[in-house]
Amino acid sequence: MKSCEDLENLSPSDFPPARTPDACEDCLSEGTKWVQLRECRTCGHVGCCDSSPRKHATAHFQDTRHPVMRSVTPGDTWTWCYVHGAYGSLDPARPRPEPTVARGK
Ligand SMILES: [Zn+2]
Ligand SMILES: [Zn+2]
Ligand SMILES: [Zn+2]
Repeated sequence: MKSCEDLENLSPSDFPPARTPDACEDCLSEGTKWVQLRECRTCGHVGCCDSSPRKHATAHFQDTRHPVMRSVTPGDTWTWCYVHGAYGSLDPARPRPEPTVARGK
């Protein structure tokens, strides 16, 4: 399993305020529709997921090289690093330790 240092110990307060909290910024300007939303950790850009026709979150990474985003779907607490292709989770999302003993290094 891949891992990424950028994703360690992230909590929601590490993310800037979303620039467009309930919308994909680029879909708003293009008049297109989104499925789910992702927020960039670097700049607070909100883009749509890869299930959306325009995939603006991925496009934002390709434009800016901002590596880390999170899901902004209510209830979701995962993060993603485009550079390393790795998932993480926000700190408050870990109510209990993982049951497995060995997690590697
Ligand atoms: Zn990374
Ligand atoms: Zn979009
Ligand atoms: Zn960004």
